[in-house]
Amino acid sequence: MTSATLTIDLRAIVRNWQALDAMTEVETGAVVKASGYGLSAPHVAQALAKAGARQFFVATAQEGADLRAHLGFGPEIHVFSGHMAGDTDAIRSAHLIPHLNSVDQMLRHVEALPGAAFGIQLDSGMNRLGMEPAEWSAVRDIAIAQGPVLLMSHLACADDADHPMNAQQLETFRAMTDGLDVPRSLAATGGVLLGPDYHFDLTRPGVGLYGGLPFVDAEPVVTLDLPVIQIRDVAAGEAVGYGNTWIASRPSRVATVSGGYADGLIRAMGPGATLFAGDAPCPVIGRVSMDLITADVTDVDGDPEALQLLGRHNSVDSVADAAGTIGYEILTALGGRYQRDYLA
Ligand SMILES: *Cc1c(COP(=O)(O)O)cnc(C)c1O
Repeated sequence: MTSATLTIDLRAIVRNWQALDAMTEVETGAVVKASGYGLSAPHVAQALAKAGARQFFVATAQEGADLRAHLGFGPEIHVFSGHMAGDTDAIRSAHLIPHLNSVDQMLRHVEALPGAAFGIQLDSGMNRLGMEPAEWSAVRDIAIAQGPVLLMSHLACADDADHPMNAQQLETFRAMTDGLDVPRSLAATGGVLLGPDYHFDLTRPGVGLYGGLPFVDAEPVVTLDLPVIQIRDVAAGEAVGYGNTWIASRPSRVATVSGGYADGLIRAMGPGATLFAGDAPCPVIGRVSMDLITADVTDVDGDPEALQLLGRHNSVDSVADAAGTIGYEILTALGGRYQRDYLA
């Protein structure tokens, strides 16, 4: 076997969704944008739909149309980027719910698809997507008369429970939506953990489903095993890899595994990362290259056939730490060359 194996535990994703659902009294949706955070939106959404999820969120209308083809009609598919020029056919034929981000998008939607479902995204302070408070107060009555199915906003700092931005955005969102008879959604994974004030009518967790922070109690979802291509002995003083960045300080055994930055194992994780042979840690040594990583297996008994990068000993967040990034980026970067096994 030459390619690495990425094992994706759909049962763990379902249990993470159920655990986040159990933390609220309201409906729990699921964010499956960027192909289910890199793990395959069709697989993830089908497993969650079977478990009872009815509201799915994607980033673009194209993602929504692709997902609809796998999910069939029934579950709702919401689109964060709203109704962009060129999206009308996809929104109509796939019955998507665009979350309109501006007056321009609202005009486009009601002109192109009068009577078709939509939501509205409001900017409560993040300044990324959605209508701002002044814009909203100007069009609110007209917009509400068109019958939006959801009013939503997004929190900028929800991964930090103590951040004052959370309460500030909550207050702004309330001021923009209190008294309107329309369901509301504010919480992603971090917002679910902030407590009931943030839950409103529907939550939209993403990363927590896939085993990432800030959901500390999430079950791990992905396992990544990199097959060993070759093991060699290296004398003290010899170098390993590009740039001679690692020099053996003792007689060493070096394993070269299949997998590199072209597979999303980003180069920046370099020597801070650790692979595992069973329970034995094998530090990454030298530079991560395009297709290969080298690891120190001097202290491992025997010749391991594969080394594990993600799994029991390494979460997406510990790998992210080694690379100076976040679990979201490690997940969504996981590449196309893996043999993908889905546990259902
Ligand atoms: C990505 C995203 C989510 C999900 O966020 P997580 O932190 O992954 O739970 C929810 N809402 C919006 C608007 C998003 O862009």
